[in-house]
Amino acid sequence: MHEMSIVQSLQDIIRQEMGRHGVTRLLAVRVVHGRLTNVVPEALEFAWEVMTKDTDMEGARLETEEIPLKLRCGGCRREFEPEDITAVLAPCPVCGEQIGHEVVAGRELHIAHIEAE
Ligand SMILES: [Zn+2]
Repeated sequence: MHEMSIVQSLQDIIRQEMGRHGVTRLLAVRVVHGRLTNVVPEALEFAWEVMTKDTDMEGARLETEEIPLKLRCGGCRREFEPEDITAVLAPCPVCGEQIGHEVVAGRELHIAHIEAE
């Protein structure tokens, strides 16, 4: 399961950050995930619950925020959010161009905020 390995990397990053700030109890973490990462929030929350159980992170809240896919048209350079949210080859609503789009947003996968004490 894709989400399990994501949680594992999140935990590594969180531990590093907490160590750096001299805090020991994690209260909450906010994760930002772009549409193209195919993260399912429910699956991520489930993986988080399973993998923090009986660890020092048990009980910490996981918040997720999805960033929609945004493309810059390869033809007219306008930015748009395709209706088919997984399609990088979606036609531009302005000029109809289908190729050469640049992904402006949607590939993000990072921690936006860590709350700890
Ligand atoms: Zn266009």
